[in-house]
Amino acid sequence: MADFSGKESGDSGNGSGSGSRRSADMASVELALFSRLFILSPDSPTIAIIGAGLTGLLAAHGLHKNGFKAVVFDKDPGPDVRERDWTMLMHWALPMLTELLPEDILADLPQAFCNPHLDFNEDAESLPCYNALTGTSCSGALSRMSKTEDGSAVVLEFEGGDKFEAERVLGADGVSSKARELLAGEERARVQRSGFLFATGITRYGDADKTEAIMKLHPVAALMMGTSSVGAVGTMAVDDPQDKSTWTTFWVKIWRGESVHLRDQEALNYIERETSALSGVFQSAIDWTPEGSRVFIDEMKYWVPVPWDNLGGRATLAGDAAHPMLIYRGQGLQHCITDVRNYVDSLVRVRGGADAAKVMQELDDEVVARGAKAVQQSLQEAEKSLDLETIRKMLMVTQGHGRSA
Ligand SMILES: Cc1cc2nc3c(=O)[nH]c(=O)nc-3n(C[C@H](O)[C@H](O)[C@H](O)COP(=O)(O)OP(=O)(O)OC[C@H]3O[C@@H](n4cnc5c(N)ncnc54)[C@H](O)[C@@H]3O)c2cc1C
Repeated sequence: MADFSGKESGDSGNGSGSGSRRSADMASVELALFSRLFILSPDSPTIAIIGAGLTGLLAAHGLHKNGFKAVVFDKDPGPDVRERDWTMLMHWALPMLTELLPEDILADLPQAFCNPHLDFNEDAESLPCYNALTGTSCSGALSRMSKTEDGSAVVLEFEGGDKFEAERVLGADGVSSKARELLAGEERARVQRSGFLFATGITRYGDADKTEAIMKLHPVAALMMGTSSVGAVGTMAVDDPQDKSTWTTFWVKIWRGESVHLRDQEALNYIERETSALSGVFQSAIDWTPEGSRVFIDEMKYWVPVPWDNLGGRATLAGDAAHPMLIYRGQGLQHCITDVRNYVDSLVRVRGGADAAKVMQELDDEVVARGAKAVQQSLQEAEKSLDLETIRKMLMVTQGHGRSA
């Protein structure tokens, strides 16, 4: 259990949000946020956050910065147990992120950039799309949630028998959220399969020419569309900025197909056998994958938000728990950050005397409406992405990474 009871100082002021597009790797960002969580307090905390992913950790920081007490629960003991790694573009939600985080973490955040040595100019801030035809601590997993008899608190129960009573609960436990299931009911909360498969490979070629071929497409990340698969390549980590043979890159491939959940060589074999080739460097990046590389294939899942029981305004959802979407246009994290900013603002209003039930209902109504729009857009983008005729109608083409939900 990680306590944000206000023991730390130095949270004054906001960072300056640039609104720029930076690519950061998932594990480094989580580590940056997680490393500050181990301050235990004897005070009884009031807000329980379920899930120490980016949404939960950011909520803890945002609440702490605004003088609230919060406790984060996660089924995993820490970020090191996460086997997945991917990169995320941060764009329109950056100013909100800087509002929520303390100065010292903001100062360290560039360390999580995939290439902290890159001079981020207008070119590096864009995401090119090529035409394919031409080239916290652990408390166990949450299992039950109920209001106390007088309705003044929420009782959380965890697998293994631990119980915890909190004034409020924020469910930030990701795509297959248990909090969502407990608040919306098993049927209504069930995550849906999209039929779109997503593969990613983490590649360290040990060969400067191969890395250079990827960099030539774009120094951060580039996309390819126009065949029955979508491809992407980019930088994930830079050891020695002068020696590209030390750099780690990634490739991505998306296609429509039968659901599979495969890892490493098996995943690579499946991609070669079952999916149509990309073109140029996008295909070479996959072909060059060194033996022993991490490769993942999963089916992307989604849930179109519908209203949930917020236990009289005491429980709500945020992040992927509230609106798991397909990864098109890199919107997921932006909405996670928006949720957290709105949650913190709502609690500040309640503390200032506003009607709690009303404020928290408005909060939920907004996240359901915004989340439903964003999830549906991600599904429509996926449908349009596999056909040259419809690609030009994608939000990705007409609006880029800008906000549309
Ligand atoms: C390949 C890929 C690329 C992406 N690229 C982008 C991008 O470019 N831009 C962008 O904006 N977004 C992007 N996203 C989306 C973004 O990564 C997610 O929206 C975001 O990380 C979700 O964070 P979260 O904290 O809500 O969920 P998660 O990170 O899933 O965290 C949930 C946490 O809850 C815990 N948990 C689960 N169940 C329980 C339980 N029962 N009890 C206790 N704890 C539990 C888990 O252990 C986990 O720590 C991408 C996603 C993927 C997969």
